[in-house]
Amino acid sequence: MPRFSDETIREIRFRNNIEDVISQYVQLKRAGSNSVGLCPFHSEKSPSFTVFSKSDSFYCFGCGAGGDVISFIRRAEALDYPEAIEFLAKRAGITVVQNEYDKETAKRRERILQMNKEAARFFHNCLFDEKLGKEGLRYLTEERGLSLTTIRYFGLGFAPDSFNMLTDHLKRLGYADYELSTAFLAGISPKNNRPYDYFRNRVIFPIISTSGDIIAFGGRVMDDSKPKYLNTSDTPVFKKSRNLFALNYAKKSCEEQLVLCEGYMDVIALHAAGFTNAVATLGTAITSEHARLMTRYTKSVVISYDSDEAGQNAANKAFIQLGAVGLEARVLQMSGAKDPDEYIKKFGKDRFAELLKATKSEFEFKFDAVLSKYDINTTDGRVKALDEAIRILSSVSSRSLRDVYIGIVATRLSVTADSLKFDVERRIKKNDGLNKRKESERMIAASQGYGDRVNPDFAKNPKAASAEEQILGILLIHPEYLREMKNRNIVLLPEDFFTEFSRKIFTSMVSFESEFDISLLGESLTVEEVDRLQKLRMHREELSDNKIETLTALIGVLKDSAGKKELTLEELIASKRKKIKKDET
Ligand SMILES: [Zn+2]
Repeated sequence: MPRFSDETIREIRFRNNIEDVISQYVQLKRAGSNSVGLCPFHSEKSPSFTVFSKSDSFYCFGCGAGGDVISFIRRAEALDYPEAIEFLAKRAGITVVQNEYDKETAKRRERILQMNKEAARFFHNCLFDEKLGKEGLRYLTEERGLSLTTIRYFGLGFAPDSFNMLTDHLKRLGYADYELSTAFLAGISPKNNRPYDYFRNRVIFPIISTSGDIIAFGGRVMDDSKPKYLNTSDTPVFKKSRNLFALNYAKKSCEEQLVLCEGYMDVIALHAAGFTNAVATLGTAITSEHARLMTRYTKSVVISYDSDEAGQNAANKAFIQLGAVGLEARVLQMSGAKDPDEYIKKFGKDRFAELLKATKSEFEFKFDAVLSKYDINTTDGRVKALDEAIRILSSVSSRSLRDVYIGIVATRLSVTADSLKFDVERRIKKNDGLNKRKESERMIAASQGYGDRVNPDFAKNPKAASAEEQILGILLIHPEYLREMKNRNIVLLPEDFFTEFSRKIFTSMVSFESEFDISLLGESLTVEEVDRLQKLRMHREELSDNKIETLTALIGVLKDSAGKKELTLEELIASKRKKIKKDET
């Protein structure tokens, strides 16, 4: 049973005009009955992002993002489906009436949040308990140098070395075994089916959402035992790919700049030293969802990772994620300390403030790495450094920036700017050639559905899969055909479909009592699946022929081709190659 009634969703779409909503994120220009702008979901220089007022939908011809106003908000605000509904309801001043299922889910979430609060209180009290928390408090104050004010501010705690203290405490408060395990506060023993404390003999960092709820915990050991950190896995109230440690505090002071660290201790040290705009990911590398989340709070991000090789490699990956959502990214580098926490302890906050002023761009960061890798006083070292520099320069897309960087590299490696520029441009041409070749292979593979994450069955029978998708595309434009098919005795059943994805969509289509409406499928689809449906519809809309006769013909193709053997990818690329060669001679 869906969480929201059809009327609620229709009302929300009606009261949130898609152009008005999108205008708050994208500068839209009129183009006939549609409007276009620069896509907020991939970086581009000419607009391929289009809003169709006729069908209340959007589609990006560059990256394929598409859907209705709800799926736009899911992406733009990094929200899940119910959160996006709440967001739009609030925007339009609608009160969402929850149905029974919804109330039940909300109640369960509320209980987990309550229980987390009790657990945080328990951990915090344990830390200050003379007997239980002695080691934890000694570790945090003496070894990590935290003040009691900081410990209280972050609500830090201690999980005693016991298998049942927290579990017993929460059960006394009326929480059930399954609630404890759902929230990841307890594991269930396979031997006797009883819950046992998940966090033991660790200092505890509560994770607080931007709305102030305690949603998860991180626990750190006090010696060198493994694992060093233990974190709450995903629960009904927590997704680690979507939350940042201390964003609840940082959100007030990070509009200009956010400092992204690797660990809890770095963030706490930074806040304690007055850098209240620091956050960290939660035991995971930065995801695209993290990057999108950051765009809601800041314009620019300073990557402040560990100074070891792993940290610097992670910085390279962070540049990619942050650049993809259009955030300005710079990197902070330090020497003489392994991480920001240690740096501040050794050299003080003023020196750290200087580092923040001396951050490096992506180019500077990469070129410096090259310079420290080779001895440029030797011919061999210079040649190798030059080769890597050319590779880095050839990936800078802005011409004027590239010219500036070419000047820097030329001076540093004692070559003329002209000859360096010549080599860089030659490399760019070569890359283009390679990319085209790769792109054409990728296109062949993609046209056959290889690497298709939304519809992974596609490659097993591209002919049938393509027919199905075209059928869905036509039905998305003309849902009334479903009725018409009955009148004309055209039989199409879910089991006629070859791929699971298309079968799932078709099954939902025919289960509607009223006319099918893609927005009402909402919750059961991922944003990528919504993209795909929008793409199928766009494809068919570009063709004039979407008559019911075409649909009938496609159904014929589907029924004919389901169950036939197809070429493997290697056979396919080889045969296309042969054909291209033949055409050329
Ligand atoms: Zn796009």
